[in-house]
Order: sequence, then structure tokens, then C-alpha cells
Amino acid sequence: TPSLFTAIELAPRDPILGITEAYNADTNPKKVNLGVGVYYDDNGKVPLLECVQRAEALLIATVTPRTYLPIDGLATYDKAVQELVFGAESKVIAEKRVITAQAIGGTGALKLGADFLKRFAPDAQVWISDPSWENHRALFESAGFVVNNYPYYDAATHGVDFESMLASFKTMPAGSIVLLHACCHNPTGADLNADQWSKIIEVVTSRGLVPFLDMAYQGFGEGIETDGQVVRRFAAAGGPLFVSNSFSKSFSLYGERVGALSIVATDSAEAARVLSQLKRIIRTNYSNPPTHGGKVVATVLSNPELRALWETELAAMRVRIRANRELLVDLLKQKAPSHDFAFVKQQCGMFSYSGLSKEQVDQLRNNNAIYAVDTGRICVAALNSSNINYVVDAICQVL
Ligand code: PLP
Repeated sequence: TPSLFTAIELAPRDPILGITEAYNADTNPKKVNLGVGVYYDDNGKVPLLECVQRAEALLIATVTPRTYLPIDGLATYDKAVQELVFGAESKVIAEKRVITAQAIGGTGALKLGADFLKRFAPDAQVWISDPSWENHRALFESAGFVVNNYPYYDAATHGVDFESMLASFKTMPAGSIVLLHACCHNPTGADLNADQWSKIIEVVTSRGLVPFLDMAYQGFGEGIETDGQVVRRFAAAGGPLFVSNSFSKSFSLYGERVGALSIVATDSAEAARVLSQLKRIIRTNYSNPPTHGGKVVATVLSNPELRALWETELAAMRVRIRANRELLVDLLKQKAPSHDFAFVKQQCGMFSYSGLSKEQVDQLRNNNAIYAVDTGRICVAALNSSNINYVVDAICQVL
């Protein structure tokens, strides 16, 4: 007799994790994995930041029972996150118009926001950039939404097709949910400039669209404050506003799952009602978040010495990524002068749409054991002093 599971089909493998599986199985000693979505240091390792180690030492020194956290997380964490994301001087914080709940990473924050929106805006449709982080579509679809793409990347210029993007926003029905990358667009590395953001904020406000900002790389672009500008500008334009943020990259705390969802409302009474409903969603999903990662981040952010150390360590990651971009472009220019890769320097954050085609990506993999995403996305942080020349030589062979 058939069982409950007989008819269940095998789900497709995660494309990015599939690359890492293939990479791990490769026996070529020169192999390089540029397909990853994490920051590697120059030794090819995921760093454990010193500020994190010191915060953990402080936490270990104070023996604390593992009680439940509040449904919306550690209060000191939520407050520190709010100030980091919206700015310590933020009007929406002073007016108590923004609520923040600790979440299970940036993904968990997006899922909470999606579930909240499905409950209170069930008929709205969601718009994400073309392309976007590959989980955005699946996540909002699994919350029950129809998900559309708005034009974003222009392969010809290696930048944003802003005219098409803006034109698309001008046709969206009021109440549409628009997902925007606050900085360091994943996967393309192409961000809007300040003028373009002004135009987007204007159309979002005038058409009554609902902005949902995903900020997974605060501090990886220009710096903590500059990267946070887009959030602050949207907040100043009035609510409603959803912001998911993640410390996976900026604290190198991937597996600890530390993120948050913030929602900006029109006034403090509305914000209190929003929080009460968000807590219901959390309660029926996982009840309350885990303690460790939230405590580490709250400790670092609220201790002036550790905070300064974190900012230094974060800056070092940002500067190393920039240096990798420059070196990659310069080496390619020396070795393949007829090809122009200067656009890689303009891109922001951990990733680059390198312009390599699927065929070229296949060749790199088959001939050189260099693994990249089919779309040509490479993780710039996966380049280091030991592999960059090898990678550049291999790229020159496939151009
Ligand atoms: N949003 C974007 C744009 C991302 O690139 C990522 C991670 O790669 C996330 C969200 C998810 O972050 P987390 O790993 O904290 O869930």
C-alpha cells in the first residue's frame, strides 16, 4: 500500500549549496570556491571576530541561567539594533514609531515580515528586483504571495537599468509590497545612487507602495552610517516601512542566526498594536528567539570599547573586499587589456556580477576547478593573495 510519502518528489537542490558540495568533492589542490555567500579572510577562513570572542568571554564569566527571552527578543538587543539601523538620533525612535523584534537571522526577519504582511495585506502582490537574492521569491511565495520582478540589472552597462526600474514602480498598484536591497545588492553588486534613491522614495510615497528594505550587508559597502542612509531616508518619508537586517556577515555570526525585523508605523499607538500582532506571529512560529547570538551582538554594540573594536574589524573586511576589487581589475587589465572590467570597482559589497557567461563559468570549473555561480556571480571576499593570480590567469583563458 502506498504511504503518505510515496508520491512525494525529490525537491531540487539549493543551487548555491550545490556548488559548495561539488567544490568539496573536487580533488584539485588549486580549487577555488567563488560561489560562496560568506566573507572569507585572506587565509580563506571565515573569521571569528575579536569583538565577538571578547563579548563571549564576558558572557561566560557571568553565569546566567538559560531562561526564555521575551517573544520579541532581548530588549537591549532590539534597542541597539534600532539605533544601528535607524541612527541613534532617529526621529522614529524618539517618537516610538518604530518597533524591532529579534529574528532568526535576516531570513527569519524576512519571513516574519512576509507572514505579518500576508495577514494584514492579503491581496497585495510583492515585487523583487530582477535578479534578487535567490531566496526572496521562494520566501514570499511560501508566505502566500504572488511575486513579480521589477527590472533592475542591465547586463550591457553592468549597472542598474534605472529608467526601466522607475517606470515599473510607476505602474504598480497602491499597496504593492516592494522589496529593495538597502545596500550591497546581492547578487549583482550594483546599487542605486543617492539621486536615484530620491526618485524611488518619491514614487513609493506618492503611489502608496509598501517598502520592505532588506539590509544584510550594513558596513560592507561604504560604512555603517552611509550604508544605513537609505533606511533613514525612507523612515523620514513616513511609514509604513519594513526593514530586515542581519548580522551574519557584519559580525561573521552566520550560524548563530542573528537578525531583526523593524516596522515603522504612523504613530506610537499604531506601533504598539503592530508589535502586539508581530508577537503573535513569532509565538505561533518558534515562540521566542535563541539567546546566544543576540547577547553577543547586544554586548558588543553597547560596550564602547567592543563597539569600537567591531567597527575597526568591520572596516577591515570592507577595505579588504575593496582592495580585492581593485587588484582583480588591475590584474585583468594587465593580462587582458582588450577587456574592460573597470565596472567591478564600481560595484558594492561582497558580490560581483562578473559578466562571465554560463559557458565561461563551466569552463572555469572544468578546466581550473574554479567554482562560480552560473549567472557569473562571484564572491569578491573569496579571492585572496594565494588564489587571485590563478583566478585571473584562468579568466583570461576563457575570455
Ligand atoms: N538578504 C540578503 C540580500 C542576503 O544576501 C542574505 C544572505 O545571504 C540574507 C538576506 C539572509 O541573511 P541570514 O543569513 O542572516 O539569514
